[in-house]
Amino acid sequence: MADHNHDHAHDEGRGHDDGQLPERQAKDALAEVAGPRLQSLVLKDGVATLVLEVHGLNRLERDRLEIAVRDALRPLAAVRETRIAMTAEKPRRRIVAVGSGKGGVGKSTLSANIAIALSRQGRKVGLVDADIYGPSQPRLMANEGQRPEAKESKLIPVASPWGVPILSIGHLVPPGQAIAWRGPMTANAMGQLIDAEWGDADIIIVDLPPGTGDVQLTMIQRHKPVGAVIVSTPQDLALMDATRAIQMFESGDVPIIGMVENMAGYLCPHCGEASDPFGQGGCEAAAKAMGHAFLGRVPLDIAIRQDSDAGRPPAAFDGPQGEAFAAIARRVAAWLDEQK
Ligand code: ADP
Repeated sequence: MADHNHDHAHDEGRGHDDGQLPERQAKDALAEVAGPRLQSLVLKDGVATLVLEVHGLNRLERDRLEIAVRDALRPLAAVRETRIAMTAEKPRRRIVAVGSGKGGVGKSTLSANIAIALSRQGRKVGLVDADIYGPSQPRLMANEGQRPEAKESKLIPVASPWGVPILSIGHLVPPGQAIAWRGPMTANAMGQLIDAEWGDADIIIVDLPPGTGDVQLTMIQRHKPVGAVIVSTPQDLALMDATRAIQMFESGDVPIIGMVENMAGYLCPHCGEASDPFGQGGCEAAAKAMGHAFLGRVPLDIAIRQDSDAGRPPAAFDGPQGEAFAAIARRVAAWLDEQK
C-alpha cells in the first residue's frame, strides 16, 4: 500500500532545519518498494537506519528488497548512508479494524463471527476487543471471567472454544472502568492488546468502539490496520454515522475493505412473514455511492441474538446464520489475499 504523503510534507511549509522532514521524505520514498515491511526508519546525521520485516521472503526476494530500498533512498540528498537490519521473527501480522458510526449496530457480533468464520476457513486469526464502552467479546466468545496470563511482559491471549484466541479490555478491567480512561491510558492498553503473544495468528480482527474517538485514532496511527470493515444498519441515520467512520479511516490512509449491512430484514419466527424494520439495501446503495465494496448482509434474526448471548456464535455452526457470516468472511479473506 503506497503512502503518498510527499506533497503533504511540502505543503506544511516547514523549514528545512526540521529534522522530521527528511525522515518523512525517506519514508515516503520507501512506501512503494517496502510497504508495510518497513518496521522503522531513523535518519540521523545523514545515516538512515531501518528495519525491514522479511518474514516469508526467500533469500533472493530479500536481496531484491534490499536493493530496491537502497535505490529508493540514494537520490535523497539528506541520506548519505543506509543501514539495513532485517527481521523475520514474527509472522507478518495484519490488523483488520471493524468499525461503526454508532453503537448497537452489531459491530461486536460481526467482529466475533467474522473471526470465527475466517478460522473455520483455515486462517490463523486472533480477536481484539478494543471497545472500551462495552467490551462484549468475552461473553460472545464464551470466555468471560478468564484473565490473560503474561509472558515476558507480553499478554497471552485467552483461548476460546472456537479456535480463535482473544484479548479484551473486558479481560483486563471490571466492566465500566475503561470508559473513564484518557488518551495515554487507552493508547497503552491498545498497545498491550495488539502487541500480545499471538503465536501464529497472522490476521487480527479488532472490534473498535463505535464512533471516531481516541481508541480509533491510536489504532490508525500506531497500529496501522491494513483495512477496515464498516458495519451499519440500513436506515439513513446509521448510514450517515457510518460515513463519518469511513472518513476517519480514509483520512488515516486505512483502506475500506467494505461495508456490511446488519439487521436487514426481519423474518418473524411465528408467522414466517418478512418485514424490514430498518429498511433494506440502504447500506449496499451507500457503499456503491461512495465507491466501496459491499461485503454482505446479515438479517435481523432473534436466533442470532439468543445464540450470541448464550456464547454460541452462529458462525461456529452450520446453518443460514452461520453462512451469512461465512460469506462476509470469504470476501474479507479475498481482499487480504489480493493485498499480498
Ligand atoms: P455493537 O457492537 O455495534 O454495539 P452488538 O454486536 O453488541 O452491537 O449488538 C447489539 C445487540 O444486537 C446484541 O444483543 C446482539 O446480540 C444483537 N444483534 C446483533 N446483530 C443482530 C442480528 N443480525 N440479529 C439479531 N440481533 C442482533
